[in-house]
Amino acid sequence: MNSPYVTGHWKPLVAGRALPADLADHASPRRPAGVAGALLNRMFVYASPAQALALQPYVSSEHGGFVLHGARGGVATDRPVLIDPAAYEKHVATPDAPFLLPTGGGLLSIGLPELLDDQLAAGAIAAITPTKFIAAGDTESLKAAARQVAQLGRQDVLLLAPLDISLVGRAHIDEVIAILADAGCPVALVLGRRFGSLAQTADRVVPYIRHLRLLAATVDLMPLRTDLTAFDLVAHGAFAGALRGGGPVRRTADASPDVLVPEFMAWWKASELVDLFGARENLAPRCPCVVCDDQRLTRLVRAHHAEEAMCHAVATWGSYAGDMLGQQTMRGRAEYWRNLCRNAVGYHAMFTQHLRRVRPLVPHKSIHAWATLPPWT
Ligand SMILES: [Zn+2]
Repeated sequence: MNSPYVTGHWKPLVAGRALPADLADHASPRRPAGVAGALLNRMFVYASPAQALALQPYVSSEHGGFVLHGARGGVATDRPVLIDPAAYEKHVATPDAPFLLPTGGGLLSIGLPELLDDQLAAGAIAAITPTKFIAAGDTESLKAAARQVAQLGRQDVLLLAPLDISLVGRAHIDEVIAILADAGCPVALVLGRRFGSLAQTADRVVPYIRHLRLLAATVDLMPLRTDLTAFDLVAHGAFAGALRGGGPVRRTADASPDVLVPEFMAWWKASELVDLFGARENLAPRCPCVVCDDQRLTRLVRAHHAEEAMCHAVATWGSYAGDMLGQQTMRGRAEYWRNLCRNAVGYHAMFTQHLRRVRPLVPHKSIHAWATLPPWT
């Protein structure tokens, strides 16, 4: 077997399922059963309904779509849509109550099937479960969620697994994969670090990259809020992924937007980007995306540029996603992604030199790891 996972401390079998060692030669991951099959080979934008309206012109109808955060009511877009109830943001799962369901003494009790039906009625292609946050070590709650979804026997549902990131560590990964594989439906993945704090900053995932790739290659997986990890997983077996348009929300006085810097494959605070280039603004990168049309990224510095910065980000990573998904094989995808990360590492060195910096520009640890780990061996 050629899998990079079947060496060292790795067990070659997870829950009795052999690793798909030949996946690298496939043209695409396996198509999920049921209506979720329509999600295959798409990179969705994770956005609020208002953001989605602004972003729609930059989202590919062939390779894109929207995951709307907590959207209610109808959805006005012709792109494929999913709705994330985001119950994990405010609630922690227990084995007795892994899902957030309305409690009420009324005659009409609303159960899980009705909640899922509401999403479909609102225009979602498939429904996402209102799973509460699965805390560190709490595989019992994850089991309860998977069991309840399996009992529904539906083919139009994604089980949302909002996991404390330690659950994909060595102590739990085998059990987590086994539980998710038994859910009988595709899995949407959200990673958190402690309740209330999403692991949006991708550096958190560095110790878990191989485990996450194994998860993506073993169960039908769609990472939702995992930052650029979505690219790494779609390159290694996830059937789809989602990525935000805007930067992380920071509560600071500095209102300048976060800007995706393609050269660095990282979001930079616009004011910090302006500081970086200082008097050498002529060295600031020009962006070829349809939003920027070769203008410099350092123009996006004021609070009112937030929407333009978001459109630039989606146009930019959307074109990378299209190129990556257009590769002939999964190996080609993984190599495309690794090259993006390698180039980003190289640009950090190049700008360090051009700007004559004493302290070198350092790529994110995750970018460095994705640039150097063997994609498929
Ligand atoms: Zn741009």
